[in-house]
Amino acid sequence: MSIKLDEIDIKILNILKGKARISNRKIASMTGISVPTVGERIKRMEINGIIKGYTVIVGDESDLLEFLIIGKWIDGRKNGVKLEKIKVIDEKYTVTGKGDTIISVKINNKEELGDLIEELNKIKFIVIDIYPVISHNTNVKSITAGRMSIKCSYCDNNITGNVFKLKTVNGTRFFCCNTCREGYIARYIEKK
Ligand SMILES: [Zn+2]
Repeated sequence: MSIKLDEIDIKILNILKGKARISNRKIASMTGISVPTVGERIKRMEINGIIKGYTVIVGDESDLLEFLIIGKWIDGRKNGVKLEKIKVIDEKYTVTGKGDTIISVKINNKEELGDLIEELNKIKFIVIDIYPVISHNTNVKSITAGRMSIKCSYCDNNITGNVFKLKTVNGTRFFCCNTCREGYIARYIEKK
């Protein structure tokens, strides 16, 4: 499949080649193209296979820094959908505890972290805490909690080691161990 690339597309591609995780807003301000147009063009190029996934363009994903950010919405979760438009956000969890949302982000450098926090503030998502991720082992389907105080959705204890996740229709739930995860499934999901 091929589409004609115009000058605008080329400009966007050149920026993405250097900084694949840059936000649409930033591209817009660098090129003088409106934010919706940038989004539209990127989407079109993704659909047509011109942009094949950002990690491919950047090269080695291991160069990226990963952070977990705990935050809270000022206005409930009205702006939740805006998070999905921020490219550096990898995953989003709805939680209870100090904040109401945890996002995982992958960025190139600390400067981008500053830009992200600024962007989050604008959509009224207040950052409570930031944790650099040391290891992210997706093979065991768990993430390392570090110093985070997340409560197990089943036994209510603070999770101190690996976090076991479960995606539910009401958002992701976190557990201290697989037994609690199984228990939760048996009590709340299988029975209904
Ligand atoms: Zn538990």
